[in-house]
Amino acid sequence: MANIKITLKDGSVKEVVQGTTLAELAASLSRSLAKSTLAAKVDGKVIDLARQLDHDATVEFLGADTQEGLDALRHSASHILAQAVQHLYGDKVQFGIGPWIANGFYYDIDIEHTFVPEDLVKIEAEMEKIIKQDLPIVRQEMSREEAIRFFEEKGQHYKVELIRDLPADAVISLYTQGDFTDLCAGPHLPSTGRIKALKLQSLAGAYWRGNEKNKMLQRIYGTAFEKKADLEAYLTMLEEAARRDHRKLGKELDLFSMQEEGPGFPFFHAKGMVIRNELESFWRKLHTKFGYEEIKTPIILNEELWHKSGHWDHYKENMYFTKIDDADYAVKPMNCPGGMLVYKTRHHSYRELPIRAAELGLVHRHELSGALHGLMRVRSFTQDDAHIFMLPSQIKDEIMGVMDLFDIVYSTFGLSYRAELSTKPENSMGSEEVWEVATSALQQALDERKMPYKINPGDGAFYGPKIDFHLKDSIGRTWQCGTIQLDMLMPERFDLTYIGEDGQRHRPVMIHRVAFGSMERFIGILIEHYAGAFPAWIAPVQVKILPITDRNIAYAKRLAGQLRELDVRVEVDERSEKIGYKIREAQMEKVPFMLVLGDKEEEAEAVAVRVRGKGDVGTMQVAAFQDMVLETIKTKAQ
Ligand SMILES: [Zn+2]
Ligand SMILES: [Zn+2]
Repeated sequence: MANIKITLKDGSVKEVVQGTTLAELAASLSRSLAKSTLAAKVDGKVIDLARQLDHDATVEFLGADTQEGLDALRHSASHILAQAVQHLYGDKVQFGIGPWIANGFYYDIDIEHTFVPEDLVKIEAEMEKIIKQDLPIVRQEMSREEAIRFFEEKGQHYKVELIRDLPADAVISLYTQGDFTDLCAGPHLPSTGRIKALKLQSLAGAYWRGNEKNKMLQRIYGTAFEKKADLEAYLTMLEEAARRDHRKLGKELDLFSMQEEGPGFPFFHAKGMVIRNELESFWRKLHTKFGYEEIKTPIILNEELWHKSGHWDHYKENMYFTKIDDADYAVKPMNCPGGMLVYKTRHHSYRELPIRAAELGLVHRHELSGALHGLMRVRSFTQDDAHIFMLPSQIKDEIMGVMDLFDIVYSTFGLSYRAELSTKPENSMGSEEVWEVATSALQQALDERKMPYKINPGDGAFYGPKIDFHLKDSIGRTWQCGTIQLDMLMPERFDLTYIGEDGQRHRPVMIHRVAFGSMERFIGILIEHYAGAFPAWIAPVQVKILPITDRNIAYAKRLAGQLRELDVRVEVDERSEKIGYKIREAQMEKVPFMLVLGDKEEEAEAVAVRVRGKGDVGTMQVAAFQDMVLETIKTKAQ
């Protein structure tokens, strides 16, 4: 047999016999690698370790320290879950789909028995048995007819439906472990024993294929890790996340609500609006400083516009429509087309570029009701959008400007972040040359700002490359918020032009960008990031004044008035409750500063100050306290 050349991740090249499996290759490199590898990436595609190498290729081994490795592990855990359910509940069980998801996996199951939490304990025990047996997970391919017959015989109608819907040229693969076989594209671990820690977490209902017209199946959620310690750390983090859940805190702190009358359309309460308004004014000041102008475009626009923008062809399913005087209109899912129309209201010279047009634009997008989640996943939200129109030579500087702006936004909230660059996909529009210029401008900007970044090859939109910003919150979770998207399509579709130095019309280059992403979601993230204990500058109530007796109410009100004159948000607790009780309640409200006022303080024109997280910091003169509060707000101290 011929030898083939394998290029490893470190750049070294190894010659192996054609037909060598990836597991054999790993074992030939080192024992520890063979032990830690879960799957492999061959020429960019993730596959099983049992697969053979048949051509010169680049190979990267994927351990539990990579997302792809973990995904393969969790996907294997979902098959084990199905196998365990089959063992315990017999042949009448029908399986839907069982994918890995962020942080875990699930399986959708059609079964007469209604699962209760105690069942999860039983199923988990059965899964442990299957893991202990260390069954090999074996891949095989079948023709469409064979595969349909195979699953029909087993009475697995959902699988048959899935096979029938596969494209004609799809390779149909099945994975078998012991007595269980599943339809699956893979990849999977070599054997069940590679999973060292797993937990079934919850039950939910899920419509087959997410469609309300279909049958509701029972979904079991779980997670799995390669190490016990990793699972424990993850479960601790989840407890912390539950404590910080923005839906729970949003209610307790009276920030927002979701109501049956508007599923997916958030209601902001007075205290939530304070946060929102503070974020907006911070945003506005910052954008003015960075040379943006602000515009506002309508929420409802004629349907024709959406044909032109391409949303009709690509996004119709997620849009809402309405009629005005018998003409068809759409509710905007994005702000771009409106922004294009504003650009086109007059001629532009190259001297005016770049034009940076920002818009806090309210968009509506239809999401399935099952996907809605507090403020994180809604049907109406406000993007802190901006469109920048520029000369090709300005791309790099503009991108760096956006990155500088984002850096101020994220670091203000103590959020660290990393960037990912997505490059040209296969079916892209625009010339190779333009893509090259655009992508290298993005890359140069990242390099020049010394920003570490990951490249996602081929992951860009078909109309341009982009940079995504992933923020890390205080408990280590990441959230994708910011995006800088280059767009070579929209200026074409809307025939945007500027008059160049040569007196001719040219196409401007355009970017879309958001820093917060969605205001609503960002507020949700901040609630969880701070666990509701907002820094003073965005706290709905900055100072809470607690008079000890009714005699001190007048003094409390006078102080409150003085603080309000200084734009400080103050509340006075006038109730005739014991002071200890008032303090505890203000603590629950997570107010940054409390002033406790008794006869002694009143006589001395002083205040006894309690600071959130520090407790009693002693008595001070009113002026000194005012300086402290104003300084904390001004510096946006965390
Ligand atoms: Zn699978
Ligand atoms: Zn846009």
